[in-house]
This record gives sequence, C-alpha cells and structure tokens, in this order.
Amino acid sequence: MSEPTIGVLALQGDVLEHVRALEAAGAHASRVRRPAELAQVDGLVLPGGESSTIDKLLRRFDLMAPLRAAIAAGLPVYGSCAGMILLADRILDGIEGQQTVGGLDVTVRRNAFGRQVDSFEEDLHAPALRAGEQDPPMRAVFIRAPWVEQAGAGVEVLATVSTGAAAGRIVAVRQGALMATAFHPEISGDVRIHRAFVDLVRAHG
Ligand code: GLN
Repeated sequence: MSEPTIGVLALQGDVLEHVRALEAAGAHASRVRRPAELAQVDGLVLPGGESSTIDKLLRRFDLMAPLRAAIAAGLPVYGSCAGMILLADRILDGIEGQQTVGGLDVTVRRNAFGRQVDSFEEDLHAPALRAGEQDPPMRAVFIRAPWVEQAGAGVEVLATVSTGAAAGRIVAVRQGALMATAFHPEISGDVRIHRAFVDLVRAHG
C-alpha cells in the first residue's frame, strides 16, 4: 500500500484542510459521506468542527453504526479536536444527549481550555512524533479545544501542554490504530501528524 486511500469524514468541519494535508503526507484523500464511501477507505480522518453537530449528522446519514463496526474491525482513524471528542469512549461537558463514536479508552473534556483562552498556539514536544529535542517542535493550534482528562492503561500519551495553567494536560494520544489530537495540525502547515497517521494506516494495511 504505497499510497493508501484515506477518507475525511465530510459532514461538517474543516474537511479541505485535511484533504490537502493528507495529500502532502503521501496519501490519496477522499471525502466520506456515505457508508459505501466509508467501505472504500484504508483509514479515516474525523476533522475539527462541532462534535455535537457531527454526532447528529453521523446518525442522520446512517454512518454511526458502520463507523463503529469499522473501528471495531481495526480501521485506522485519526481525530482532530472535535474528532478527538468523537473518538472518545467517555466525554465531559457534552450537550444533552451527545453521543460519541468511541473506540479510544479516554475521557475527554469538551471546550476544556475555557472561554478566556478560546484559541491559542503552542510549540509542543512530542518525541514519538519527531517533534522537540533534536527536531523542531510542533506548532499546535488550539481552537475551543478539548483535552484528555483521563487515559486508560492501553493509551500512549504523545504530547502534553508544556506551559501555562493547562500545563501537563494530555493533547495527543494513540491506541492501536486510533490517534487523536486536541489541536489542528491541518492548519499549521506541519504535516508530521498526518505523516504519522499515513504510516499507521500503512502498518495496518
Ligand atoms: N468545541 C468543539 C466541539 O465541541 C471542537 C472545536 C474544534 O473542533 N475546533 O466539538
């Protein structure tokens, strides 16, 4: 699988930015809106946007059950921001009745960084993603971002916030074929996260 086909869930959110980042990272990118399109991809990106809206659309488009089945069968999935919320088994501060796709053994707090710091950027060190130490740090853009409040034993922590009131909070994780970041690598122009996901898709292909 030299050029895997990676879908971007295209119900709501920043789809085009992920399509571009995936192509820059060596994948063929497609948009997924229907179960038949989901069945054709080697991996899937759940973009940033509004997790409660994407949840409702997943159910309305009859994609929730096929997506859960695909994840259970080992489909690699990367979720960014709202996508991280959607991958979480447990969420805090969701709206009434909000569901997630699940699969990732984490508790994620929605809009965790609070109103005062709605959006901010930070240089992250994440050795598993070749960021920091010898390599340049990763510029991470957070927009009304969640964080991982609790991670299960099988979850690898890839990055935490290094400064400020939220120092130590977990913002990037991986568990088996699932990856999630609280930030938006698709808008910072740094394709290391997408490259790591393309590698994960190849490894599971
Ligand atoms: N706050 C949004 C949510 O709850 C996520 C924001 C984002 O994806 N940039 O879904």
